[in-house]
Amino acid sequence: MRAAMLAHHAAQHPAIARALIAALLLSLLGANLWAWVSLLRAEQIQAVARLQLETDALARQIEARFSHQTSSLQRLASRWPLHHRQGDLWRQDVELLLGDFENFQAIEWLDADYRMRWIEPLTGNEQVVGFAYSPEHPNYPLLEDSRLSGQPRLSSSFTLQQGGKGLAYYIPLYRQADQPHSFDGFLLGIFRVEVLISDLLSDLLQTHLSVDFKDGSGVLFSHQGSDQRIPDWSVDSSVRLGDNTGFSLTAYPSQRLLRSTRTSLPLLVLISGTLASLSLCYALWLALINTQRWDALSRSNRALQSEIVRRQSIEESLQHNQARLKLILDMTDHSHDALFIIGLNPQELVYLNRTCWHALGYTEEQLRAVLAIAPADIMPDFEQWATDLQRLVTRRGSAIFQQQVRHREGHVLPLEISVRHLARYGRDYLICVGRNNTEQLKIAARLKRLSHLDGLTGLYNRRYFDQTLASEWRRLRRENTPLGLLMLDVDYFKRFNDQLGHQAGDDALRQVADALRNSLQREGDSACRYGGEEFAVILPGADMTQCLRVAEHLHQAIKRLEIAHPDSPEQHLTISIGSASLIPAEGWEPKELISLADEALYQAKAEGRNRTCQAQLADHDIS
Ligand code: GH3
Ligand code: MG
Ligand code: MG
Repeated sequence: MRAAMLAHHAAQHPAIARALIAALLLSLLGANLWAWVSLLRAEQIQAVARLQLETDALARQIEARFSHQTSSLQRLASRWPLHHRQGDLWRQDVELLLGDFENFQAIEWLDADYRMRWIEPLTGNEQVVGFAYSPEHPNYPLLEDSRLSGQPRLSSSFTLQQGGKGLAYYIPLYRQADQPHSFDGFLLGIFRVEVLISDLLSDLLQTHLSVDFKDGSGVLFSHQGSDQRIPDWSVDSSVRLGDNTGFSLTAYPSQRLLRSTRTSLPLLVLISGTLASLSLCYALWLALINTQRWDALSRSNRALQSEIVRRQSIEESLQHNQARLKLILDMTDHSHDALFIIGLNPQELVYLNRTCWHALGYTEEQLRAVLAIAPADIMPDFEQWATDLQRLVTRRGSAIFQQQVRHREGHVLPLEISVRHLARYGRDYLICVGRNNTEQLKIAARLKRLSHLDGLTGLYNRRYFDQTLASEWRRLRRENTPLGLLMLDVDYFKRFNDQLGHQAGDDALRQVADALRNSLQREGDSACRYGGEEFAVILPGADMTQCLRVAEHLHQAIKRLEIAHPDSPEQHLTISIGSASLIPAEGWEPKELISLADEALYQAKAEGRNRTCQAQLADHDIS
């Protein structure tokens, strides 16, 4: 758990982790180097220790060999009591000894006065014949010491009379072995240092060691081994010759010795340690990279998870929306209204619901095909409608169009199309909702008609009269055709009401209206209730003659009604009519015609009622 957290932290701070790995690598490499140096050092110490052992062994060997020689010399000295009178025998023994040990320079006898009495061999030692030790001689104290102690003594190196350095081994001689006062001088062994030491070291001369044999005065003998000596690593071993401890042996290791003690362990340790360090750091580095990758993978996995969740929610929302869309389209298909959407640039029928094609007797494919090839087969006024739509798009507005569409079987249906422009996602659309408005049109027509009818009589009302007279006026002015107008008024109608009641008056007005309507023969003639008990009849195209003829017909029709009027001279209901007809001219207005007819009516009243009077054009400056 802690390792995982550590790896996570390392992945969080890769620069620090890399620096730590680098520091670790440097530390490990440093430790490897240290171990390598330590091992080399240990090997060197081991080599020096071995050298010390060898040197000590050598010193002991020198001591043993020297001791062997001096023992021989002592054995010779021990025979002095027997041989000192037999000079030949003595010389014979000395010669035998010299034969055994060639490194003696000479064997001498000093008498009790320290004077040399004889020397063997003589050859090569002639210079010392007759030599006597004076008290100034460096070895004199040694002679004294040996004489007094009765013990042999070895001198330090000194310059021989024969030349060169030498050592002298003094053995006191006594004529009687157990009587010190019978001192008879010294048996003296002279060794030439070089010869002695090289003989003692004869076994070593071929070795790899370089050695120096020293005493207090300096190097007495030096041997150079087969290899160059390494002065820094020299070892010393003291050498005791006889009772003289003033000698030492200094040995120098050779390269070969060092090589022989050197093993491949330090290098192996260095290489294996370096490789192990590199491997460890590489493994850590790989682990770091893997942790980083794992971290990145985890992050991307988390992102992927949330993306999956997001997509699932989108998918669900999409499915929900699809279900809703399906439901909406299904509902739309079952709507009575035709819904279609036109996409522009390029023009395309994006959507049309079932009502569009079903109401026209087509399948969807058939309707699309017909619209693509010959839209006028569906909508006769298509060209104009397309132009209107283009205008609507330009002003980005909305409009309601009343169009005709043709059913597959040929009959035409009225269609009210509500169109709205919409821009979505950089494209223009027209949303069109079409409705078969046959019924509404019928109702509207009926309403319109009702708005033009008089409630009591069912004739056209005053509004219709005004509109129709104005429109006929304009039409007939273009056609240069006369327009006739009859103004009618029921005679003595106040009295009628007064006598028979207002209800009877209404009934009478209805009967008059029916009579007027039924009397009109020509299409375009229209009878209107002008107001109260006054009526107006518009007679398009009728000149005065024709007007008078219609007026006469109207009088007859009213008469036929035989509506009793107790307070009228005629005893039945009558009407008076003013007739006017003129060709509508520029600068004139319909009210001029109404005035003419009105004046004629006034005249008819004035002349006794129940008659028709015609307008006098001259009176109105109409020519
Ligand atoms: P004249 O011969 O001069 O026309 O005599 P008149 O009585 O008809 O004259 P006036 O125009 O003065 O009277 C018209 C009368 O018509 C007044 C009114 O009571 C009656 N009247 C107008 N409208 C109606 C109506 O809708 N129903 C009934 N019952 N009477 C009406
Ligand atoms: Mg009136
Ligand atoms: Mg009247």
